[in-house]
Amino acid sequence: TGWWDHVGPAPKDPILGVTEAFLADPNPEKINLGVGAYRDDEGKPLVLQCVRNAESMISGTEFLESLSSSVSLRLVEESAKLAYGEDSDAIKEQRYAGVLALSGTGACRLFAEFQRRFYPKSHIFLSSPTWSNHHNIWRDAQVPERKFRYYDPDSKGLQFATLIDDIKHVFIEKGMFSCMQNAPDRSFFLLHPCAHNPTGVDPSEEQWREISYQLKKKNHFPFFDMAYQGFASGCLDEDAKAIHIFLDDGHLVGCAQSYAKNMGLYGHRVGCLSVLCADAKQAAAIKSQLQQIARAMYGSPPVHGLLLVSTILTDSKLKRLWKTEIKDMAKRITGMRVVLREKLEKLGSAHNWQHITDQVGMFCFSGLAPEHVDQLAKEFHIYMTHDGRISIAGITSNNVDYVANAIHEVTR
Ligand code: PLP
Repeated sequence: TGWWDHVGPAPKDPILGVTEAFLADPNPEKINLGVGAYRDDEGKPLVLQCVRNAESMISGTEFLESLSSSVSLRLVEESAKLAYGEDSDAIKEQRYAGVLALSGTGACRLFAEFQRRFYPKSHIFLSSPTWSNHHNIWRDAQVPERKFRYYDPDSKGLQFATLIDDIKHVFIEKGMFSCMQNAPDRSFFLLHPCAHNPTGVDPSEEQWREISYQLKKKNHFPFFDMAYQGFASGCLDEDAKAIHIFLDDGHLVGCAQSYAKNMGLYGHRVGCLSVLCADAKQAAAIKSQLQQIARAMYGSPPVHGLLLVSTILTDSKLKRLWKTEIKDMAKRITGMRVVLREKLEKLGSAHNWQHITDQVGMFCFSGLAPEHVDQLAKEFHIYMTHDGRISIAGITSNNVDYVANAIHEVTR
């Protein structure tokens, strides 16, 4: 037999599969509501002005070697400030281990590897549902996953009481049966601090306080995957509020940050992983461990994107411009939510579409069934993931009528 005869194709990624189907459709009216990338009101990818300005400032930089350590230290610190707050004690006391990572995915993968290495018997608790790649990331790091219930299909909002129950006990599904067990203390919980993917459902401030309290009581470790900071409220600080609540409660937390969405730097793969520690000495030790894991996985991250981000974060004018641009992106998305809901209501839809405007961030968990999703693709050339997740960023002033009408037709 040949070397690779036993290797079959990997299962299709649910998100990349949507893009494939979209690209294969020859209809010029086709609309892609599948990918979680921002689009402007013409449906085009947006290069932020702050990025263009930073690009011209760094042009001519010699990229032959890795970034100087002062630049990466500064970038890690600026990232930590975005997550933990400008005046955070953890930063003042240097109680955080931070490393640059290959965007949000790479930061999660690095943490998963770190978790397995130092807590080899631990689990990762993921919300049900969550970003599909979370399953792959922790599986590949050989960390077993458990889930906590999160989304309520009836209200299309948060299943809060059940979520709290699942922090106290573990929910285990076995085929048609399910049971509760006592959750082992010191488990890892992955939380989306804002703009939950795929549901667009975020806990309220009060609910975050309760989640924080319950996790603390059980000695669990909260790991925040922050891929959309700014997209929920339009404000970076506001979107990090959940993390600040946990800090106030005395948690040590971890955080994966991505600049893919909020700086529109998808392809540059700029991100940061940070882990809060008891003191500066522990932080130095943990940082060296994270660096060692990264070194064996991919060496060091590419420098061009890092330099762009550090230029924006360390130049007060550019940073201000960035914040305005985030606000504008978030505003466009919120506006499109309102218009889509209004159009559906005006068409006389018998369904309640309030969740379109209740949910936040890039995505709307529409409640469309897989049959609806198939019919939208086949008859209307509108593409989205099978779970009915709509990327609101794909909706524009020009196509919102068409989208509303199509949704109305398939749900009549
Ligand atoms: N985490 C969540 C919840 C996401 O939705 C995404 C992207 O879709 C990521 C992390 C990683 O994004 P990236 O690796 O492009 O920064």
